[in-house]
Amino acid sequence: MNEENILIVRCGEVALKGQNKPYFERMLVDRIKRNLRNFQGIEVKRHEGLIYVRADKALEIEPVIKAITKVFGVASVSQAVEAPSDLEDIGEEAVKYMLKLIEEKGVKTFKVEAKRADKNFPVKSPEIGRIIGAKVLIGCKVLKVDVHNPDVLLHVDVRHDKTYIYDGKITGLGGLPLGTNGKGMTLLSGGIDSPVATWMMAKRGMMIEAVHFHSYPYTSERARAKVEELASIVAGYCGKFKMHIINLLPIQEAIVTNCPEEETTILVRRFMMKIAERLAKETGCSALITGENLGQVASQTAESLVVTDASVTMPVMRPLIGMDKIEIMDRAMEIGTYEKSIEPYEDCCTVFLPKHPTTKPKLDRILLSESKINCEELIEAAIESDEVVVIKGI
Ligand code: ATP
Ligand code: MG
Repeated sequence: MNEENILIVRCGEVALKGQNKPYFERMLVDRIKRNLRNFQGIEVKRHEGLIYVRADKALEIEPVIKAITKVFGVASVSQAVEAPSDLEDIGEEAVKYMLKLIEEKGVKTFKVEAKRADKNFPVKSPEIGRIIGAKVLIGCKVLKVDVHNPDVLLHVDVRHDKTYIYDGKITGLGGLPLGTNGKGMTLLSGGIDSPVATWMMAKRGMMIEAVHFHSYPYTSERARAKVEELASIVAGYCGKFKMHIINLLPIQEAIVTNCPEEETTILVRRFMMKIAERLAKETGCSALITGENLGQVASQTAESLVVTDASVTMPVMRPLIGMDKIEIMDRAMEIGTYEKSIEPYEDCCTVFLPKHPTTKPKLDRILLSESKINCEELIEAAIESDEVVVIKGI
């Protein structure tokens, strides 16, 4: 058996990148290395379109696999053994591999799936499969071949200098490596939607910076702590990021005092967007991210979103726009944010909630309302109060 545990990492969509493929692969290797930085005795290398992770045998391999499958851009991982690309050696390793599976899992049937990435190898794939299959049958007397429904599909991947033998794949998250698609400023609340939206954009390679609005003392310290904990779960995927914490209360009070009650929510949302855009420009972000979802609430009707968009010039990315709430909740459960999101703490949007919020706001009316308050001064004061916290992944 090999001295090291060998993991083959496949890069899914990155493999389709044509001329830019080496760049994406380099970024992916870099991200895998970062996610594995706390493990000792690990080597990550890119070779012939695959990424190989070699881990000291003393190292428990499951946590290593888990850390790799959390990297955006990783399609799947297989734990493999390697042999020199010579039929005798491959056969010997394949027999050892199957004997172990018989002992550990009581495997009874198998099929060999051979692939010859090295076209100079003198034997073609189907023939490799037959030869190795015959060797396994001789070496493992209890095994039978089952071509339709085998207990184990034994992959034999013949490459230039080495051959890799493995069964099964552990599915990764897919997507693109972080840092390959700029940086976005996400508006992060304590709800279910915005952590999922943030995660989805990070999955497409976008680096994250966040802003959270609160209405202290109407919202509590505990509500803020909850958002930070939620952000940490997201950072577990996208790495540590900065979160700007802004008190929105003076703006909400100015709106409630001076503007029509039914417009409160949409006016507050426009302020949030404007502040987020300022912060985005200061921090090198090229887009805003929200968890808005068409028709979910009054401020997310098509008409409301148009009026919200008109408050900024930066593109607003809304990855949840066409999803159903159930789908969003399922995704939140998958990524591990759901349980934290449903903890019942107050949010600044629920402070000063109008009884009948407008669902069809008109931009000219909204602009008229905004002319009654000193927007610029309020925005500047809000940004002055910015408190930045660094969110580390868990
Ligand atoms: P979520 O589950 O994300 O809170 P929601 O359905 O409660 O979404 P809204 O409260 O209308 O929807 O907010 C829509 C979006 O506005 C959120 O997804 C988020 O991006 C942003 N947002 C709302 N409240 C805040 C906040 N307190 N701080 C930062 N962003 C917020
Ligand atoms: Mg919310």
